[in-house]
Amino acid sequence: MWYTAEILISESNVKNNIEFIQSLTGEDTLFSSVVKGNAYGHGIEVFVPIAQRCGVRHFSVFSTNEAYRVKKVAQPNTTIMIMGMVDNDALEWVIEEEIEFYVFETDRLEKAREAALKVGKPARIHLEVETGMNRTGMSLALMPQVFQYLKKHHQQFEYVGLCTHYAGAESYANYYRVQNQIKTFHQVVEQGKERKITPQIYHTACSAALLGFPETKMDMARVGILQYGYWPSKETLIRCLNETQDQRDPLRRAIKWRSKIMSLKEVPAGDFVGYGTSYLTETDMTIAAVPVGYAYGYTRSLSNQGRVLIHGQRMSVISIVNMNMILVDVTNLESVEKGDEVVLIGGQGDLTISVDSFGELSSQLNYELLTRLPYNTPRTVVS
Ligand SMILES: *Cc1c(COP(=O)(O)O)cnc(C)c1O
Repeated sequence: MWYTAEILISESNVKNNIEFIQSLTGEDTLFSSVVKGNAYGHGIEVFVPIAQRCGVRHFSVFSTNEAYRVKKVAQPNTTIMIMGMVDNDALEWVIEEEIEFYVFETDRLEKAREAALKVGKPARIHLEVETGMNRTGMSLALMPQVFQYLKKHHQQFEYVGLCTHYAGAESYANYYRVQNQIKTFHQVVEQGKERKITPQIYHTACSAALLGFPETKMDMARVGILQYGYWPSKETLIRCLNETQDQRDPLRRAIKWRSKIMSLKEVPAGDFVGYGTSYLTETDMTIAAVPVGYAYGYTRSLSNQGRVLIHGQRMSVISIVNMNMILVDVTNLESVEKGDEVVLIGGQGDLTISVDSFGELSSQLNYELLTRLPYNTPRTVVS
């Protein structure tokens, strides 16, 4: 309560984005909504119910903790898949709750089997194959042994998926690497078929792969960034625009991050503003203090650089970003008042502060900037 800033999430924009994703996946490919990183900063507890109202029934997370958070707000007939970290001591809970998880090491299979025996339910697993990203995943050479193990212990496992992840499908610079990954994946698919060990689904695509390599969509696409209204890279946006008739961005940003003017002050010409000497007034100025600083995710690298919207106009952040405050030059605004809305990211009037522009000034990637949106700021759904 009494927060200094808030994040508004537009349900209709999310719906627009999900419909766009579904136009890419088509009827035969399931869409898994990726909500790791606190739903890319949008807040798991807020975003998951919105996605569910749009008909989404499958969510992908990174960790057990995120799975727990999704579980708490999800409808009963929802599938949750953990793509990363599951501690051994969490396995029993995960299996009991019928949460699906990636297996990328053989000792994980053994631990999962033990836990499945204890719980009395099969472990619902997705085998992650190493195809060239060299992050997590089991090598081609290991797979025969893994298939053998699954065959032998089939009662303790439900072999839900075979999957991999591409190392940079958002850029054509990685074209050959991704093509090789696709080939390697198909080799493993064949290995399994020869041994008559086949999963319920094959899945490999993230947002960028779905856009740029349609053959990767298979039975399910794991899509994160597009849902929130952002492109995996500029290149993917440009490619998409070239393919559309009207050259309009089909995505709508879901987030608006805003605060309000806390205090106004007149400063005469020739004075320094804020800590140190980084900003000197050249004329008499009116300065607004806005109660967001780096403690709330407004990064310090935006000192003397950031832009915010007030009264539908672009205003400059001056001086150093403080822990709890920024200072904004509002000299040219008429009838500015305490309590006036200040937009940090998102639209006001005809203008928008995009995550991209914010990201460029602070040299952060879309993904990074979004996931760093602070936990200590409340998220509210708006239509
Ligand atoms: C993050 C992630 C995705 C989704 O990536 P986007 O680029 O946001 O669509 C898909 N699969 C895995 C394994 C991931 O880690």
